[in-house]
Amino acid sequence: MTGYKRVLLKLSGEVFGGGKVGVDPDVVQKIAREIAAVSRAGVQIAVVTGGGNFFRGAELQQRGMDRVRADYMGMLGIVMNCLALQDFLEKLGVETRVQTAITMGQVAEPYVPRRAIRHMEKGRVVIFGAGMGMPFFSTDTVAVQRALESKCDVVLVAKSGVDGVYTADPKIDPTATKFDDLTYDEAMSRGLRIMDQTAFALCGENKLPMVVFGMEPEGNILRVVQGEKIGTLVSA
Ligand code: UDP
Repeated sequence: MTGYKRVLLKLSGEVFGGGKVGVDPDVVQKIAREIAAVSRAGVQIAVVTGGGNFFRGAELQQRGMDRVRADYMGMLGIVMNCLALQDFLEKLGVETRVQTAITMGQVAEPYVPRRAIRHMEKGRVVIFGAGMGMPFFSTDTVAVQRALESKCDVVLVAKSGVDGVYTADPKIDPTATKFDDLTYDEAMSRGLRIMDQTAFALCGENKLPMVVFGMEPEGNILRVVQGEKIGTLVSA
Protein backbone atom coordinates (compact mmCIF):
# COMPACT_ATOMS: atom_id res chain seq x y z
CA MET A 1 0.00 0.00 0.00
CA THR A 2 1.43 3.35 -0.99
CA GLY A 3 0.28 6.43 0.82
CA TYR A 4 0.26 10.13 0.10
CA LYS A 5 2.38 12.76 1.87
CA ARG A 6 0.29 15.87 1.23
CA VAL A 7 -3.38 15.81 0.25
CA LEU A 8 -6.13 18.25 -0.58
CA LEU A 9 -9.55 17.17 0.61
CA LYS A 10 -12.63 18.67 -1.06
CA LEU A 11 -15.80 18.56 1.03
CA SER A 12 -18.98 19.83 -0.54
CA GLY A 13 -21.31 22.03 1.47
CA GLU A 14 -23.89 19.25 1.40
CA VAL A 15 -21.66 17.22 3.69
CA PHE A 16 -21.67 19.98 6.34
CA GLY A 17 -25.41 20.41 6.40
CA GLY A 18 -26.21 16.71 6.59
CA GLY A 19 -28.63 17.38 3.72
CA LYS A 20 -30.17 20.50 5.30
CA VAL A 21 -29.51 24.24 5.24
CA GLY A 22 -26.87 25.33 7.75
CA VAL A 23 -24.28 23.37 9.66
CA ASP A 24 -24.99 20.11 11.49
CA PRO A 25 -22.50 20.06 14.40
CA ASP A 26 -22.70 16.27 14.76
CA VAL A 27 -21.70 15.79 11.15
CA VAL A 28 -18.90 18.33 11.33
CA GLN A 29 -17.57 16.69 14.48
CA LYS A 30 -17.42 13.36 12.68
CA ILE A 31 -15.57 14.90 9.71
CA ALA A 32 -13.18 16.61 12.12
CA ARG A 33 -12.41 13.24 13.75
CA GLU A 34 -11.52 11.81 10.37
CA ILE A 35 -9.31 14.72 9.40
CA ALA A 36 -7.63 14.60 12.81
CA ALA A 37 -6.81 10.94 12.23
CA VAL A 38 -5.16 11.81 8.91
CA SER A 39 -3.13 14.59 10.50
CA ARG A 40 -2.07 12.35 13.41
CA ALA A 41 -0.92 9.74 10.92
CA GLY A 42 1.65 12.32 9.81
CA VAL A 43 0.03 13.18 6.49
CA GLN A 44 -0.15 16.86 5.55
CA ILE A 45 -3.70 17.86 4.78
CA ALA A 46 -5.47 20.93 3.44
CA VAL A 47 -9.21 21.20 3.04
CA VAL A 48 -11.40 23.12 0.60
CA THR A 49 -14.99 23.36 1.71
CA GLY A 50 -18.00 24.06 -0.47
CA GLY A 51 -20.96 26.18 0.54
CA GLY A 52 -23.99 24.68 -1.13
CA ASN A 53 -25.59 24.11 2.30
CA PHE A 54 -25.98 27.88 2.54
CA PHE A 55 -26.15 29.50 -0.90
CA ARG A 56 -25.39 28.66 -4.50
CA GLY A 57 -25.06 31.74 -6.67
CA ALA A 58 -26.59 30.15 -9.75
CA GLU A 59 -29.67 29.10 -7.79
CA LEU A 60 -30.19 32.55 -6.29
CA GLN A 61 -29.78 34.03 -9.76
CA GLN A 62 -32.64 31.89 -11.00
CA ARG A 63 -34.75 33.36 -8.24
CA GLY A 64 -34.06 36.91 -9.36
CA MET A 65 -30.81 37.91 -7.66
CA ASP A 66 -27.82 39.48 -9.31
CA ARG A 67 -25.35 36.67 -9.97
CA VAL A 68 -22.28 38.47 -8.73
CA ARG A 69 -23.84 39.44 -5.39
CA ALA A 70 -25.30 35.96 -5.01
CA ASP A 71 -21.89 34.40 -5.64
CA TYR A 72 -20.37 36.58 -2.93
CA MET A 73 -23.09 35.33 -0.58
CA GLY A 74 -22.08 31.82 -1.61
CA MET A 75 -18.46 32.55 -0.73
CA LEU A 76 -19.41 33.94 2.68
CA GLY A 77 -21.41 30.78 3.38
CA ILE A 78 -18.31 28.73 2.67
CA VAL A 79 -16.45 30.59 5.42
CA MET A 80 -19.04 29.50 7.99
CA ASN A 81 -18.33 25.87 7.11
CA CYS A 82 -14.61 26.53 7.51
CA LEU A 83 -15.07 28.03 10.97
CA ALA A 84 -17.24 25.13 12.11
CA LEU A 85 -14.64 22.64 10.91
CA GLN A 86 -11.84 24.63 12.52
CA ASP A 87 -13.69 24.65 15.81
CA PHE A 88 -14.18 20.90 15.97
CA LEU A 89 -10.61 20.21 14.84
CA GLU A 90 -9.17 22.47 17.53
CA LYS A 91 -11.37 20.80 20.16
CA LEU A 92 -9.65 17.58 19.16
CA GLY A 93 -6.29 19.24 19.74
CA VAL A 94 -5.42 19.65 16.07
CA GLU A 95 -3.75 22.91 15.11
CA THR A 96 -5.48 24.60 12.20
CA ARG A 97 -5.37 27.73 10.09
CA VAL A 98 -8.22 29.06 8.00
CA GLN A 99 -7.08 31.07 4.98
CA THR A 100 -9.71 32.96 3.04
CA ALA A 101 -9.58 34.29 -0.50
CA ILE A 102 -11.60 37.32 0.65
CA THR A 103 -9.72 39.17 3.36
CA MET A 104 -11.44 39.12 6.75
CA GLY A 105 -8.70 39.65 9.30
CA GLN A 106 -10.78 39.06 12.42
CA VAL A 107 -11.80 35.55 11.45
CA ALA A 108 -9.05 34.14 9.25
CA GLU A 109 -5.67 34.63 7.64
CA PRO A 110 -5.59 35.84 4.05
CA TYR A 111 -4.74 33.28 1.39
CA VAL A 112 -0.93 33.18 1.24
CA PRO A 113 0.13 30.02 -0.60
CA ARG A 114 3.68 29.80 0.72
CA ARG A 115 2.46 30.29 4.25
CA ALA A 116 -0.15 27.59 3.72
CA ILE A 117 2.61 25.17 2.72
CA ARG A 118 4.61 26.16 5.80
CA HIS A 119 1.58 25.48 8.04
CA MET A 120 1.19 22.03 6.53
CA GLU A 121 4.88 21.29 6.99
CA LYS A 122 4.40 22.12 10.67
CA GLY A 123 1.54 19.64 10.87
CA ARG A 124 -1.29 22.19 10.87
CA VAL A 125 -4.47 21.50 8.96
CA VAL A 126 -5.08 24.33 6.51
CA ILE A 127 -8.68 25.13 5.60
CA PHE A 128 -9.09 27.23 2.47
CA GLY A 129 -12.24 29.33 2.51
CA ALA A 130 -14.26 31.84 0.49
CA GLY A 131 -13.62 29.92 -2.71
CA MET A 132 -11.39 31.69 -5.19
CA GLY A 133 -12.69 35.05 -3.98
CA MET A 134 -14.20 35.56 -7.42
CA PRO A 135 -17.73 35.09 -8.71
CA PHE A 136 -18.44 32.54 -11.46
CA PHE A 137 -16.15 29.89 -10.01
CA SER A 138 -16.95 26.73 -8.09
CA THR A 139 -15.22 25.27 -5.09
CA ASP A 140 -14.33 22.23 -7.22
CA THR A 141 -12.11 24.48 -9.31
CA VAL A 142 -10.71 26.05 -6.15
CA ALA A 143 -9.87 22.60 -4.78
CA VAL A 144 -7.81 21.74 -7.84
CA GLN A 145 -6.16 25.17 -7.97
CA ARG A 146 -5.20 25.08 -4.28
CA ALA A 147 -3.94 21.51 -4.61
CA LEU A 148 -1.72 22.51 -7.53
CA GLU A 149 -0.43 25.68 -5.93
CA SER A 150 0.31 24.06 -2.57
CA LYS A 151 1.87 21.04 -4.30
CA CYS A 152 -0.46 18.33 -3.03
CA ASP A 153 -0.02 14.78 -4.34
CA VAL A 154 -3.72 14.22 -4.89
CA VAL A 155 -7.20 15.76 -4.70
CA LEU A 156 -9.57 13.70 -2.56
CA VAL A 157 -13.21 14.21 -3.48
CA ALA A 158 -15.33 12.93 -0.59
CA LYS A 159 -18.95 12.32 -1.54
CA SER A 160 -22.04 11.64 0.48
CA GLY A 161 -24.43 9.06 -0.91
CA VAL A 162 -22.15 7.68 -3.65
CA ASP A 163 -18.87 5.78 -3.35
CA GLY A 164 -17.05 6.49 -6.61
CA VAL A 165 -17.42 7.19 -10.30
CA TYR A 166 -20.02 5.09 -12.14
CA THR A 167 -20.78 4.49 -15.81
CA ALA A 168 -24.07 6.30 -15.19
CA ASP A 169 -25.87 7.79 -12.19
CA PRO A 170 -26.43 4.73 -9.94
CA LYS A 171 -29.46 6.39 -8.33
CA ILE A 172 -31.16 6.49 -11.74
CA ASP A 173 -29.66 3.54 -13.61
CA PRO A 174 -29.47 0.29 -11.58
CA THR A 175 -27.18 -1.31 -14.21
CA ALA A 176 -24.50 1.36 -13.66
CA THR A 177 -21.11 -0.04 -12.64
CA LYS A 178 -18.30 1.56 -10.67
CA PHE A 179 -14.84 2.28 -12.05
CA ASP A 180 -11.84 1.38 -9.88
CA ASP A 181 -9.49 3.33 -12.14
CA LEU A 182 -10.10 5.79 -14.90
CA THR A 183 -7.97 8.11 -17.03
CA TYR A 184 -8.89 11.74 -17.59
CA ASP A 185 -9.19 11.11 -21.34
CA GLU A 186 -11.55 8.19 -20.75
CA ALA A 187 -13.70 10.21 -18.35
CA MET A 188 -13.92 13.07 -20.84
CA SER A 189 -14.70 10.85 -23.84
CA ARG A 190 -17.42 9.08 -21.86
CA GLY A 191 -18.82 12.44 -20.80
CA LEU A 192 -18.69 11.51 -17.10
CA ARG A 193 -19.51 14.42 -14.82
CA ILE A 194 -17.26 14.04 -11.80
CA MET A 195 -16.46 17.66 -10.97
CA ASP A 196 -17.37 20.74 -12.94
CA GLN A 197 -15.65 20.98 -16.30
CA THR A 198 -13.16 23.72 -15.40
CA ALA A 199 -11.97 21.79 -12.35
CA PHE A 200 -11.72 18.55 -14.24
CA ALA A 201 -9.83 20.06 -17.16
CA LEU A 202 -7.39 21.79 -14.79
CA CYS A 203 -6.73 18.54 -12.97
CA GLY A 204 -6.25 16.58 -16.20
CA GLU A 205 -3.98 19.15 -17.85
CA ASN A 206 -1.70 19.15 -14.83
CA LYS A 207 -1.81 15.37 -14.38
CA LEU A 208 -2.94 15.69 -10.79
CA PRO A 209 -4.50 12.44 -9.59
CA MET A 210 -7.95 12.52 -8.05
CA VAL A 211 -9.71 9.96 -5.85
CA VAL A 212 -13.50 10.08 -5.69
CA PHE A 213 -14.89 8.10 -2.76
CA GLY A 214 -17.77 7.88 -0.29
CA MET A 215 -17.72 9.38 3.20
CA GLU A 216 -19.26 6.17 4.57
CA PRO A 217 -18.13 4.21 6.52
CA GLU A 218 -16.27 6.46 8.95
CA GLY A 219 -12.51 6.22 8.49
CA ASN A 220 -12.60 6.28 4.70
CA ILE A 221 -10.56 9.46 4.43
CA LEU A 222 -7.65 7.89 6.31
CA ARG A 223 -8.04 4.67 4.29
CA VAL A 224 -7.71 6.56 1.02
CA VAL A 225 -4.79 8.62 2.29
CA GLN A 226 -2.94 5.49 3.34
CA GLY A 227 -3.34 4.08 -0.15
CA GLU A 228 -6.18 1.61 0.33
CA LYS A 229 -8.02 1.11 -2.93
CA ILE A 230 -11.50 2.42 -2.35
CA GLY A 231 -13.56 4.66 -4.61
CA THR A 232 -12.28 5.58 -8.07
CA LEU A 233 -8.79 6.79 -8.92
CA VAL A 234 -8.73 9.21 -11.86
CA SER A 235 -5.25 9.81 -13.27
CA ALA A 236 -3.45 10.81 -16.46
N1 UDP B 1 -18.47 30.58 -5.27
C1 UDP B 1 -17.95 31.60 -6.07
N2 UDP B 1 -16.60 31.57 -6.37
C2 UDP B 1 -15.78 30.58 -5.96
C3 UDP B 1 -16.33 29.52 -5.20
C4 UDP B 1 -17.68 29.56 -4.87
O1 UDP B 1 -18.65 32.51 -6.47
O2 UDP B 1 -14.58 30.63 -6.24
C5 UDP B 1 -19.88 30.67 -4.83
C6 UDP B 1 -20.89 30.18 -5.87
O3 UDP B 1 -22.05 30.97 -5.78
C7 UDP B 1 -21.19 28.78 -5.37
C8 UDP B 1 -21.14 28.93 -3.88
O4 UDP B 1 -20.08 29.88 -3.67
O5 UDP B 1 -22.44 28.33 -5.82
C9 UDP B 1 -20.89 27.67 -3.08
O6 UDP B 1 -19.84 26.92 -3.66
P1 UDP B 1 -20.10 25.52 -4.39
O7 UDP B 1 -21.40 25.59 -5.16
O8 UDP B 1 -18.89 25.17 -5.16
O9 UDP B 1 -20.25 24.57 -3.13
P2 UDP B 1 -20.58 23.00 -3.08
O10 UDP B 1 -21.43 22.67 -4.27
O11 UDP B 1 -19.26 22.29 -3.13
O12 UDP B 1 -21.25 22.83 -1.77
